[in-house]
Amino acid sequence: MKREEFIKSLFVFPAALSAINHPHPVLMLEHIKKSARALAPKVVAMRRHLHQFPEASYCEVQTRAYIAQQLTEMGIPFESSELTNSMIATIRGGAGTGPVIGLRADFDALADFDEKAPVEFRSKNPNIMHACGHDCHTSMLLGVAEILKELAPQLKGTVKLIFEAAEEKLPGGSSVMIHEGLYQKQGIERIFGAHIDPRLKAGTVGFREGDFMFAIDEIYITVAGAPGHGATVKPNATHAAATIIAELTEYVNEELPIQLNIPAEVAPVLSFGNIYTAGPESDAAREIPDFYGVVSRMELLEPRKAACATPFQRIVGGSSNVVMKKVKMEGTLRTLDEKLRVKLRETLCNKAREIIQKKNHLGLLTCDFRVYDGHPLLHNDPTLTQHCVTYAQAFADASRVKMLTPWKASESFAQYLQQTPGVFYRLGIQPADSNDITPLHTDRLFVDESALEFGVGFMAYLAVLEMMRE
Ligand SMILES: [Zn+2]
Ligand SMILES: [Zn+2]
Repeated sequence: MKREEFIKSLFVFPAALSAINHPHPVLMLEHIKKSARALAPKVVAMRRHLHQFPEASYCEVQTRAYIAQQLTEMGIPFESSELTNSMIATIRGGAGTGPVIGLRADFDALADFDEKAPVEFRSKNPNIMHACGHDCHTSMLLGVAEILKELAPQLKGTVKLIFEAAEEKLPGGSSVMIHEGLYQKQGIERIFGAHIDPRLKAGTVGFREGDFMFAIDEIYITVAGAPGHGATVKPNATHAAATIIAELTEYVNEELPIQLNIPAEVAPVLSFGNIYTAGPESDAAREIPDFYGVVSRMELLEPRKAACATPFQRIVGGSSNVVMKKVKMEGTLRTLDEKLRVKLRETLCNKAREIIQKKNHLGLLTCDFRVYDGHPLLHNDPTLTQHCVTYAQAFADASRVKMLTPWKASESFAQYLQQTPGVFYRLGIQPADSNDITPLHTDRLFVDESALEFGVGFMAYLAVLEMMRE
């Protein structure tokens, strides 16, 4: 049989996938599994290459070039974002019109990590590591691209492959592509994305319908007061700032869930990651880099330039016996309820101001409280999630398909889901013979690479079935 005829034959064995009345070509499933197996060494090699040369958000120039080269070799055209390194590639089906399906992988890495994972292909870029597994996501999507490109003559509709830069740093690659209009231009009707999950075994996949991941906002508080000798300055900015951190964190993380009877798994979280001091004579605006502030504001949209111009700059001032003029605190507020999110932003601002007022009997303290919009909560379309669960149960056996609780991290994928219904799911990477969980965003993150073959096969299968669905 000629190759073309063979591929055609994969599409003509309908068997009812009764729950969603879907044609379910059994030969297609076997073919995709076989293709994913054949591609696995290449996908692993791509992952290892990306892993060794990680680049931080907005600075992924070499990674972008690598992806572009792979797409070009496969004969897949792509469009580029103007403001970030993101790209959207297109595979058109040759069998007529049909839905436009979006598949997304991110490709930025994290700064401030020196890799300690027990692998030979550790990061060669000092202080940067693929500690969130985006190297896996991108190599898998390139594998999916190869399978779908081969099947394209028999596919109805279009697949859009979104390679997203700068997922980790606000405003995030998705927001920028939406801001540019690049995303809307693709006409994507349903979108799917996966994230690796160290808590799930390799070869398993996890879903949650409805609200899945938390909304995030960045909080910036600057407290200013009179600087001077540690023996004399009272009240001072450091004390006021410490009180704000303690009281606000206690309120959100301890008191509020009890007051409102919010179960722990969906309760909001406030945490502060950075605290800077400046002074006694200097101007905090100049001394403390407004790195996140600049890239968070869409009206100043030159994120690639802004981020790369001031990479990971940290200025720490002060000494133990001098009270500084300003203290700046940077934190995040995470919520899984949009109404509570809006209310909390206001409440926290009022609480910070009240604290300052109470301590401000000399009139020397001021407080600047800013919130930068982060990503909304990630809402998986319930019907599409049920479809994906059905596809996964057909692809693997049901014991390898898990239903998940909410995940307190946030994801730039949530931005696409504000535009287009879709599903974000998780892919297990924990080795079968180990119970050691190496968490995301740590220098130990370890991926059982057998997960990649499963991830490629399942995403390709999902895309094909979604294209065949009316
Ligand atoms: Zn991450
Ligand atoms: Zn991630």
